[in-house]
Amino acid sequence: PYTIEQVKALVREFPDFPSEGILFRDIFPIFRHPEAVECLVSHFVDYIKALGKPVDVVVGLDARGFLFGPLIAIKLGVPFAPVRKRGKLPGQVVSATYMKEYGPDVFEMQSDAIESGKNVVIVDDLLATGGSCKAAEELVAQMNGNVILDAFVISLAGLEGDKKLKAPVYALMEC
Ligand code: IMP
Repeated sequence: PYTIEQVKALVREFPDFPSEGILFRDIFPIFRHPEAVECLVSHFVDYIKALGKPVDVVVGLDARGFLFGPLIAIKLGVPFAPVRKRGKLPGQVVSATYMKEYGPDVFEMQSDAIESGKNVVIVDDLLATGGSCKAAEELVAQMNGNVILDAFVISLAGLEGDKKLKAPVYALMEC
């Protein structure tokens, strides 16, 4: 079995990816070790349970939030709902615009994914400027859901992404 410190040690850094000057953090090595994934997921589940609030839905961000969001949801015994880039989800959707490096992008959720008044935990691999998670918070708000936590594997220190967000932020590690 893995300790959470051993899980953190699996995260790798790639300088100049995907472009020069960017230091990319890669969480995929965690997924090469099933017991590390188990440890990561249990860590988040324990943290969420310790909040002492009922959780109704786990929302994961496109695309790495899909890796462990559903695993957290299964352990909590609640539904998982995806946030996707524009045009990927069928049926009625809600949408929110956010700023990326080279301009605006749009996130969507299926508008029946969250019932009014439900408590939501949003998960993603990494918090940088907070723009994408803020858009996810807005999508949940459009369905009258209540975000009780934004949870990340990594938070980039110095970017103050958490200041953009309405809900409390938890990150397993700060880089
Ligand atoms: P933000 O919107 O600026 O907070 O950027 C966060 C989004 O960009 C997340 O969906 C991340 O998956 C992605 N991202 C930004 N930098 C990295 C990185 O170094 N590794 C992995 N994902 C990253």
